[in-house]
Amino acid sequence: MSDEMNDEMQLIVDGKRLDGRKFDELREVKIETGVLKRADGSCYLEMGNNKMIAAVYGPREAFPRHMQDPSRAIIRYRYSMAPFSVDERKRPGPDRRSVEISKVSREAFELVVMKELYPRSGIDIFVEVLQADAGTRAACINAASVALVDAGIAMKGIVTSVAIAKVNGEIVLDPFKEEDNYGEADMPFAFVIRDGEIKSIGLLQMDGKLSYDEIRKGLEMAKKGAMEIYRLQREAIIRKYSLEEVE
Ligand code: UDP
Repeated sequence: MSDEMNDEMQLIVDGKRLDGRKFDELREVKIETGVLKRADGSCYLEMGNNKMIAAVYGPREAFPRHMQDPSRAIIRYRYSMAPFSVDERKRPGPDRRSVEISKVSREAFELVVMKELYPRSGIDIFVEVLQADAGTRAACINAASVALVDAGIAMKGIVTSVAIAKVNGEIVLDPFKEEDNYGEADMPFAFVIRDGEIKSIGLLQMDGKLSYDEIRKGLEMAKKGAMEIYRLQREAIIRKYSLEEVE
């Protein structure tokens, strides 16, 4: 990302973003719970043009055995991008980026999953990006949270994630690909939400340059955005389980 590039790329026109959104507006979020039959919990989620599936297996006996912890469950998180999910074909299999995203996402879930209830067990979270348009780590975390609830895993809270960015000098919520690629900064957050309130931050990364004031503004914007996503996560879970009661 060069300054030259920033000068050239007009990402805000007449006070609006290229996709017509306001600065503090999320992309449309759609969530469906329990879409995979063989998984213990699953979720399909769209966030604008991002499309992802999360599948949770467990708690089940951790394998290989030497990985088992006699006092708690181990959590594994695998973020993966389908070769067809991006403009330029992505080579299948893990790369540095997906290993890093998997690690930081897992660490966010370590904060909420009540691992001590499941000794010697493994909880495996797989997230597959089917279509990518920036913010995939956040969207995958949101899907994984719903899939964990669907799997009935005991948690102290839910993890909800969204990014902010700086584009053409403005702080914006939930950047799409051009804003992410050509903006001045981008900062994904994941919040731990308990009893309907944001309690802590479980993931925070940053690319680019922001002032203290911009970070403060971005944090407030991200918190509001996360609460909106949280409401949709809850709705998606309630929708599935209330339907099951009726059937
Ligand atoms: N991207 C891509 N090819 C890749 C990795 C990323 O086209 O190998 C695109 C994709 O749209 C992704 C965006 O770049 O969503 C931003 O990637 P980043 O690493 O910032 O992660 P994300 O914002 O998706 O969490």
